[in-house]
Amino acid sequence: MDEIAADPSHPRYASLLMRHRLEAAAKRGMLADSAMIAHGRGEAFDYLLGERTTPSARLAGAEAMHRLWHAQRPVLSLNGNVAALAADDMLRLASRLGCPVEVNIFYRTPERMNAILSYIEERKKVLGLDVVVLGDAPNAAIPGLKGPRAACHQEGILDSDVILVPLEDGDRCKALVAMGKTVIVIDLNPLSRSAQQASITVVDELSRALATMLAWDEGEMPEAYDHQTVLKDAHKAMLDGLSDA
Ligand code: ATP
Ligand code: MG
Repeated sequence: MDEIAADPSHPRYASLLMRHRLEAAAKRGMLADSAMIAHGRGEAFDYLLGERTTPSARLAGAEAMHRLWHAQRPVLSLNGNVAALAADDMLRLASRLGCPVEVNIFYRTPERMNAILSYIEERKKVLGLDVVVLGDAPNAAIPGLKGPRAACHQEGILDSDVILVPLEDGDRCKALVAMGKTVIVIDLNPLSRSAQQASITVVDELSRALATMLAWDEGEMPEAYDHQTVLKDAHKAMLDGLSDA
């Protein structure tokens, strides 16, 4: 999916690469119609952030990793955008943690689920990683959510104690928190309901956030994490961007 015409020295190369990944995923039937809108909203916030990882996002990423390392039953959740943009790093993370990934999408159709699951299986083979991929046969429901949005696997999301849900919908994030789980969100919008509701929020672009997390070693101790401080820092970094320039 990474073959694009743009020159890597182009100042917007990383952004063009992500757009290309979404275009390719759309062609494979992996994305909901609103996927590009969600991505565009993220891009706007990333522009304000200066397309960089802030110190507070690094701290949140470290805390997220620390919680995942020390979880009893960690799980990583993927939707269409996450699979399109960062399937490889999500699989690497799951392999490092020895935990399953679960495909869980907002607008669930069998076609889209199959498109995402087959892409993940394909990447798993290419990377040679041994990771359990759930999502094909949900046998449980997240309490408080209605219809197909609630569907999940008992051995994955339902019984997890720490869950990474990048780019998650606010409602589902809230329902997972209400179940008593530690919910880790990656979201460029510090004002979104997901960012606010989560236990830990990494306000950074998905692939940069995962790079921070993959670089964090099991034995390292993160600095003290305060959720509201991290969100306020991100918001401030966006508002201060011009005055820093
Ligand atoms: P909420 O329901 O939590 O209030 P929302 O409705 O604003 O959120 P959605 O459209 O449900 O948001 O999901 C998209 C979210 O993901 C947005 O907050 C957007 O900023 C963020 N986002 C999109 N692409 C990326 C990305 N590549 N990296 C990080 N965050 C992203
Ligand atoms: Mg939403």
